[in-house]
Amino acid sequence: MPHPTDQSAAVTVLGLGPMGRALAAAFLEAGLHTTVWNRTPGRDGELTARGAVPAPTPEEAVAAAPLTVVCVVNYDASDAVLRQAAVTTALKGRTVVNLSADTPERARDTADWAGRHGIRYLDGAIMTPTPAIGTDDAVFLHSGPRELYEELRPVLAALGGTHTHLGEDAGRAAAYDIALLDIFWTAMAGYTHALALARAEGVSGAELAPFAQGIAAILPPLFTEFAADSDTGTYPGELNPITSAASTMTHIVHASEAHGIDASVMRVIEGQARRGIALGHGTDGFSRVGEVIGRR
Ligand code: NDP
Repeated sequence: MPHPTDQSAAVTVLGLGPMGRALAAAFLEAGLHTTVWNRTPGRDGELTARGAVPAPTPEEAVAAAPLTVVCVVNYDASDAVLRQAAVTTALKGRTVVNLSADTPERARDTADWAGRHGIRYLDGAIMTPTPAIGTDDAVFLHSGPRELYEELRPVLAALGGTHTHLGEDAGRAAAYDIALLDIFWTAMAGYTHALALARAEGVSGAELAPFAQGIAAILPPLFTEFAADSDTGTYPGELNPITSAASTMTHIVHASEAHGIDASVMRVIEGQARRGIALGHGTDGFSRVGEVIGRR
């Protein structure tokens, strides 16, 4: 992993939730002079013990370094910090990397705001949990001016892992982020539902988990196949047509509801599959649903 060549480089981290603290810790570990600020005081104890400098206000924090990394819950929160007049003034001529999560539209709006105030701006998204930060496993996505990204690469490398610049459109990192989180949360919802359904049938989590791993292992090649289906607009269903898939979904709905377990998520998915069938796509594969749900 490359390290910043200039060990006296300074960075400010705004937001000390679990992720902000992990980012600040990685910067400290890499030897950067790290200033930290959080809306609620008292979150910086471990970091200051390791050499971070706490700033009393966000404007003093951003004035302490040429680069500010923001990592708060969403862009309402980053706006609440960055768009205070004193902070905006202090940021003029400096650089902000916003690693908070939100929508592509909010990322673009923040990039516009930064441009209007003479602030250099790179947007970003973090795709891995806090323990990965500073290790090879961390995954960061960035979008915005490529030149700025290249300039910041040595400092960003302190966060470990892989960094990918996705394009000049500031919203592009957030576009990947929301699509990838869509996979994550629907998968998590599916698994928590499966555990509840199994428990109601007297199957423990420990008994189900090894077989759940088997289901997870089926997914990677399907991700590649479905991506090709989506890109080409063809949805082959020879091996598992939507009619068959919808039938298994119905079983899940019935079994869940017989136990009084909310099956509304599966009902929606089943409904989407049945809509595909009603529109004449019953012999297509389940990937067809991704096209059907986008129709107006
Ligand atoms: P949270 O998403 O809970 O964010 C907490 C931080 O947001 C705290 O610093 C909190 O300050 C701040 N905050 C919330 N509202 C405001 C506000 N109105 N004004 C100022 N600050 C505010 O925790 P994380 O640190 O885990 O996440 C930060 C970002 O990183 C999020 O966008 C998250 O989606 C993303 N992320 C997190 C991952 C994780 O594993 N934790 C993984 C990948 C991405 P205060 O302490 O004062 O409440």
